[in-house]
Amino acid sequence: MDILISGASVAGPALALMLTRYGFRVTIVERAPGPRDGGYAVDFRGRAHLRVLREMGVLAAIEREQTNMGAMWSVNESGKKLVKMPDDIFAGDVEILRGDLARILYEATRGESEYVFGDSIASLDEDAHGVAVTFERGPTRRFDLVVGADGLHSTVRRLAFGPEERYASYLGLYNAVFTTPNHLNLDHTGLSLNLPGGRMAATYSARGNREAKAVFWFGSEPLAYDRHDVGQQRRILADAFSDAGWIVPRLLADLREADDLYFDSISQIRLDRWSRGRVVLLGDAAWCASPLSGMGTGLAAVGAYVLAGELATAGFPEAFARYEQIMRPYVAGAQKSAEGVAGFMVPKTRLMTRLMNLSYRLLPYLPWKGAMARSIRKTAEAVSLPDYPAAPVPRRRPSDRAS
Ligand SMILES: Cc1cc2nc3c(=O)[nH]c(=O)nc-3n(C[C@H](O)[C@H](O)[C@H](O)COP(=O)(O)OP(=O)(O)OC[C@H]3O[C@@H](n4cnc5c(N)ncnc54)[C@H](O)[C@@H]3O)c2cc1C
Repeated sequence: MDILISGASVAGPALALMLTRYGFRVTIVERAPGPRDGGYAVDFRGRAHLRVLREMGVLAAIEREQTNMGAMWSVNESGKKLVKMPDDIFAGDVEILRGDLARILYEATRGESEYVFGDSIASLDEDAHGVAVTFERGPTRRFDLVVGADGLHSTVRRLAFGPEERYASYLGLYNAVFTTPNHLNLDHTGLSLNLPGGRMAATYSARGNREAKAVFWFGSEPLAYDRHDVGQQRRILADAFSDAGWIVPRLLADLREADDLYFDSISQIRLDRWSRGRVVLLGDAAWCASPLSGMGTGLAAVGAYVLAGELATAGFPEAFARYEQIMRPYVAGAQKSAEGVAGFMVPKTRLMTRLMNLSYRLLPYLPWKGAMARSIRKTAEAVSLPDYPAAPVPRRRPSDRAS
């Protein structure tokens, strides 16, 4: 079977890794001109996530590049440390920068899968035997199946299921991340400042302290902007934090030069079904639980493992139904865990910020101190993974192609 995957971040390459092992031929189309760096750290936690990474053969590489972050601190506008954030709640078993993870998955798949960068699917025309796919740039091609692993704003979802507005619910926050120098010489740590109006600015050391990530969160009504216009996104972010003190003006000066800005709304995606005919959705395109769930990447990896395993064992079309049956309750748990986190994580008023800091300070002494961490772990482990057969790695090695 020839399978086309749209999106080369986490879900797409993770699926390609497993599909090619089972002997499927895979093409991945990615809108960006090459593998995308950028983003902050993503976490894997619990037995299911680790098992899937182990079976994909990437766990050791991920562990080698994990962030090894220590405690994070909440600070005031003078940079004075106020309280240590509870790391058993925020950190997973393995934490890695999203860009490093995407690179590891790309390197693990580029030999067996065909990558087409700088292009996007323009239309899907399905008949009884396959799908004719037209691209914005490359020639029309036919595939047996098409997978949308192209994220929150999925093009495949729009083409097969209809406009994003039907499926997206906005959780009231925007998030931005970009790379900066490690101005504060942070050593495997991060500092975050809560600001009135439901805003947070933070800086974390990254990549062995050689650089840092600037991370911003702010509450807002839904904003109308062009997702492909980085200049516009820079202006929105700079305006939202123009009155902030501490190190924020310096980070905003770096923003002008940053070439890896990630800027997006915090939203969830909900669809009644994830497949239609020969088209299926995976990862954020299907079920985005939002970064507030702390599970977006784990869900994408587990979903890729299940979808590939079901295609190899049950085959199309049964595989799609079985994939939903296994993943639906798991995804629902992660989506639920993200609801209500926004208000707590990015408090709107100074009083609420003080209450949040107080609760962090008291947490180690409270009888239910482990309960939150245990509940997050339980959500991450709430999936029964079938045992799919191990498959030989094929020898075909097509080269990369840019359209
Ligand atoms: C640059 C970047 C930075 C991120 N930073 C963070 C972060 O700091 N914290 C966090 O929790 N999550 C972050 N995320 C989201 C996180 O990667 C996902 O929530 C999770 O890993 C699930 O991944 P996914 O592969 O389903 O979707 P995504 O990671 O969103 O990947 C979707 C991919 O599809 C590509 N794409 C989009 N449209 C098209 C199209 N029309 N044709 C072809 N390709 C297309 C995108 O360029 C992207 O590579 C980031 C995502 C990206 C792309």
